Amino acid sequence: MREELDKKLCEKYPDIFRDRNAPMTRTAMCWGFSHNDGWFTILDETCAKLMMIKKLTGVGVVATQVKEKFGTARFYIMGDEQSQSTFSEDDAKIIGGIIRDIIDYFESRSAGTCEDCGQWGSLRIWGNWYYTRCYQCWRKIMKDQYRLDIPEKESDYEDWENKRLNELTANNDKPAGVTVPEEASEV
Ligand SMILES: [Zn+2]
Repeated sequence: MREELDKKLCEKYPDIFRDRNAPMTRTAMCWGFSHNDGWFTILDETCAKLMMIKKLTGVGVVATQVKEKFGTARFYIMGDEQSQSTFSEDDAKIIGGIIRDIIDYFESRSAGTCEDCGQWGSLRIWGNWYYTRCYQCWRKIMKDQYRLDIPEKESDYEDWENKRLNELTANNDKPAGVTVPEEASEV
């Protein structure tokens, strides 16, 4: 994520991103936000919810890592030792569950949000790479990284792809198979 947005989140949520510049022996947050700008808004909304929970319950969290993996966002947190709550153990469990739900919601929303521009996006797999992108941002990646000119309209893509595969087969050239990395099976 670009520096300006990184700074914005750290200034707006200093408690959550307290370890943004802490040593790497303590946190992965020192690497910054390892995803693109398109997820800024949903991450911002998520942090606002987490701060509201803190305001209402006293239970706070500190981010340990925010990144992209297999096309979707991962947001890792730990309990904030500096926050104080007077809830019973049972109630604290429920609050912990609500926090978990907020994080899960963010991660699943990222699966439908273009990582580059924030518009509606979907998972696109090319070779071993996973991209959650709107069609136009994906088209740009195909052009810039793979030097492939895919159709301007998404409705024409399937025909284009079939034609490409046929040509590859005709040339006795094996099309690049999609191999799913081992870790992809994790839930
Ligand atoms: Zn996009």
